[in-house]
Amino acid sequence: MLSWCSLKARPDLETTVATWLPPPHSSGRTDLIRVFAGSARTPERRCGYKTALKARPGLKPPAGPLPGYKADPREDFNLGPAGDALNLIEYKDVAVATALALALQAKGDRPAADPALATWTRTAVTQYLAGGYQGLIPVRHPWVRVTPLDEPDERGARRYEQCAWGRPYTSPDGSVRELWIPVAGPLSETEPDEGQLAATAMVLAFGTPHRLPEWFRWKENAEPLETDTPDGARLPDLVRIREVSCLDGTRRLVDEQTLGRIEERYQRIGRPQLASAVSSGEFVPGYDCEDCKLVPVCPALRRTTGLLGIEDTTRPRRIWSVTNGRSYAGRPGRDEACAARERLRRLRLPDRTGRSLTPTVVRGHAVHAWIQEQHERHPGVACRAEDAPDGNSPWSAGKWTVPLEEAGTGSRMVAAHARHCPYRLSTVTTLVHEKSIMMHDTAADVLVTAKSDLLYRDGASWVYREVKTDARLRLSSETDLLREVPQLALAVLLMERAQGDLTTSRVELELLGPDVARLVIVDPSDPLHRAEARQVIHDLAVDWHADTTALPRPGRYCRYCEMVEWCQPNPPPGTPSEQGVQP
Ligand code: SF4
Ligand code: SF4
Ligand SMILES: [Zn+2]
Repeated sequence: MLSWCSLKARPDLETTVATWLPPPHSSGRTDLIRVFAGSARTPERRCGYKTALKARPGLKPPAGPLPGYKADPREDFNLGPAGDALNLIEYKDVAVATALALALQAKGDRPAADPALATWTRTAVTQYLAGGYQGLIPVRHPWVRVTPLDEPDERGARRYEQCAWGRPYTSPDGSVRELWIPVAGPLSETEPDEGQLAATAMVLAFGTPHRLPEWFRWKENAEPLETDTPDGARLPDLVRIREVSCLDGTRRLVDEQTLGRIEERYQRIGRPQLASAVSSGEFVPGYDCEDCKLVPVCPALRRTTGLLGIEDTTRPRRIWSVTNGRSYAGRPGRDEACAARERLRRLRLPDRTGRSLTPTVVRGHAVHAWIQEQHERHPGVACRAEDAPDGNSPWSAGKWTVPLEEAGTGSRMVAAHARHCPYRLSTVTTLVHEKSIMMHDTAADVLVTAKSDLLYRDGASWVYREVKTDARLRLSSETDLLREVPQLALAVLLMERAQGDLTTSRVELELLGPDVARLVIVDPSDPLHRAEARQVIHDLAVDWHADTTALPRPGRYCRYCEMVEWCQPNPPPGTPSEQGVQP
């Protein structure tokens, strides 16, 4: 039997355990627990076990066949250089232009920042500083709340260090402490996570100045500092937390509390959530795996070789999906490859004008969300055309709202789904949307991920379905299906490796147009399909895997690229007119 569920985690490791167990055969110290306030966030798709492991900086997992961690020498944090520049400006009194130049230059084995990252960093620092300090003084050393214990507790800990990520400031008399949290984009209007706020405010209120160890000595205790700064002399009366947009300079006060209220809220919300975070035994393979030192030996991560057809473990360990492949290589036959686009999207540089979320893209997301909601509200009941939204006005599903100009088309696409709704088959028993699958291709040392639009059981068979919305239903009989929709190729390869009976499994493409739907089936047991799928995925990944420079390649497709503001491409002479180019 094909067991897709086993891709998630071993059942015995999925449950949260009261007593956290280190990885078998690990070594090092477990008496120090250092936890950042962000760990108190309500977990969504985070891996709990990784959070708990990270909170034990002295713990060393057993050696595996591959190194525990292989960092990319290139910058991987979109606010990394901005933080370096602000440190120079705020703590060493370096002029802004000089600080930026120093932060963006090559250091050790780290190359100079990509030109687009440099452009973004200049904006980020300028916007961060735009509102001034409002009478506050930058604080050079972070506040750490240290709790030493006489005896080891039930976790084996004898020392707790609680920290908070952000930039600290104090009033000149030390009565007010603030933490400013730089945000690489516009500020959200949603309510901040209360558990995280509670844990952060506790560090600000009761932490004292410390020097945190360098990353290569991270297992050592933070060192208390005797300072004569206002924050070193006393605890505050008032604590504030602000978010600062590095995109437009806006600021939002997200918390302002006195010490009594902070203590009460921490005991009520912050402490239980932090305690649960440092004791979590739940494995959730996903984007957390990329920099997790447990990858080579993690019991929840499926391993395979040959998924990408690449044998080279010298590159940094990264996550790869078909979306990354398409960002790098563009669509087949369209000469739109650009290595920088994939790199800049991976860095999550902000998309100020929302270019990536065109009305068509929003419509596609909303159609998926509507169908998902329908299935989840009425499991086992086949969708009917009349269940579609009213297309005469904007409509919403999930977090998406379809604008009027796309509302009718989107509504008809939802209605078209009724023709091939899986629940039309009485044999369909289990159906999940948006199921993430992660496999470690150890030959390429790449974490390959896919998210199925639909995964369901039809009798004894597992079916992986990709749903595409296409206003023109462009798929013809000559279309190279796996190359045009490489998600299908990856699904074939994942099915092949899922140790099930391929002869009863299938991969489907449901193509939804405004008036008609088509269902195309790919048989993963067909050796020709499997060979073609291997070639498609290899072609999509191989150049990306070897690339160390991610150079921009300007062309007419830049007009549709949301990175254009930072990349500032200079199209080469002779670039064809942009007229008539379709996104
Ligand atoms: S490798 Fe992935 S699943 Fe395993 S502990 Fe790390 S983040 Fe969690
Ligand atoms: S703007 Fe053009 S050159 Fe720059 S990343 Fe985008 S596609 Fe590449
Ligand atoms: Zn349906």
